[in-house]
Amino acid sequence: MGQDDNHWCELGFAEPAVAFKGPTQTARSVTEAWMALHGFCPACAADRLPQLPNNAPVADFRCGDCGEEYELKAKQGKLGGS
Ligand SMILES: [Zn+2]
Repeated sequence: MGQDDNHWCELGFAEPAVAFKGPTQTARSVTEAWMALHGFCPACAADRLPQLPNNAPVADFRCGDCGEEYELKAKQGKLGGS
């Protein structure tokens, strides 16, 4: 029968779940020390996080596997300045 026409229509509107992420994405914060020691994605345990270009608005790293974003925070320690 031809009762399955609506099914094709639904498939056409299927979108990846990533599209539901809001415009205000909050990147997780990681420290330079953490990145130097580990350097993998804690969300999905991907091997490594590719660094984004400096003009990236928020995040410094984004996982290519799960899309999680991370902001690299510089270590706020004094370097022997007394
Ligand atoms: Zn990941």
